[in-house]
Amino acid sequence: MDDAGSAMIEFQQVGKSFGGQAVVEDVSLTIAPGEFVVLIGRSGSGKSTTLKMVNRLVEHDRGRILFAGQEIRSFQPEDLRRRMGYAIQSTGLFPHWTVERNIACVPTLLQWPAARIRDRVTELLELLQLPPDLYRGRYPNALSGGQQQRVGVARALAADPDVLLMDEPFGALDPITRAALQTELARIHRLSGKTIVLVTHDIDEALRLGSRIVLLDHGRIVQVGTPRQLLAEPANDFVRDFIGRSD
Ligand code: ADP
Ligand code: MG
Repeated sequence: MDDAGSAMIEFQQVGKSFGGQAVVEDVSLTIAPGEFVVLIGRSGSGKSTTLKMVNRLVEHDRGRILFAGQEIRSFQPEDLRRRMGYAIQSTGLFPHWTVERNIACVPTLLQWPAARIRDRVTELLELLQLPPDLYRGRYPNALSGGQQQRVGVARALAADPDVLLMDEPFGALDPITRAALQTELARIHRLSGKTIVLVTHDIDEALRLGSRIVLLDHGRIVQVGTPRQLLAEPANDFVRDFIGRSD
């Protein structure tokens, strides 16, 4: 990209209110290209809202958010979403579409040639360890929860976005499947060098995956640090308790 070396995503004193109630306040954070940033906090702490402001599923109302050095409001929302894959817990797969068509969704909108789309679907199914011949023609209800999540991740990666935004992508899975997909995601990050922002409330997931962890409480950042920093130097008792808790 032409802005190599500068921030991929930058929050400058960002805030958001719903019905007069601030749910995100004074969030400043710089995310470098290739970083794997995890947003963590309790339910209701503002994680999803923070993430959705980046691709303008929610419009921020205070401060500035920059993508590749430009205010996100200067992008067409469709262009922004093409450059940022988005994966969520419920996968959001269309039940009446095959795996192939679900994954091909964005490339199809972008009018890629059919052969290129087919090759890309094959490549992604292989990357996510779903043998293409077995899975491309299946419908989502003929897949396990873990396989559906893999397809959701493949779809988010389909148009080779600069950034992957993930909101509790593995939240609904059993621990063994979740661990397998975490390993997969770490591998994809290593191979692709993509910038990943992942929301979770699972501290073990955060410590395992994040190159940096951002702990939110009541819409504010409590601490930002590497997993090692959060473990060794928790900023306060809240961080200590949060890290120590096991659920
Ligand atoms: P988290 O993802 O950390 O659980 P959210 O960002 O989803 O938290 O929500 C933060 C707060 O904002 C919660 O109190 C939630 O009820 C509120 N909220 C989120 N979205 C909306 C909305 N569209 N309208 C009103 N309140 C909302
Ligand atoms: Mg959430």
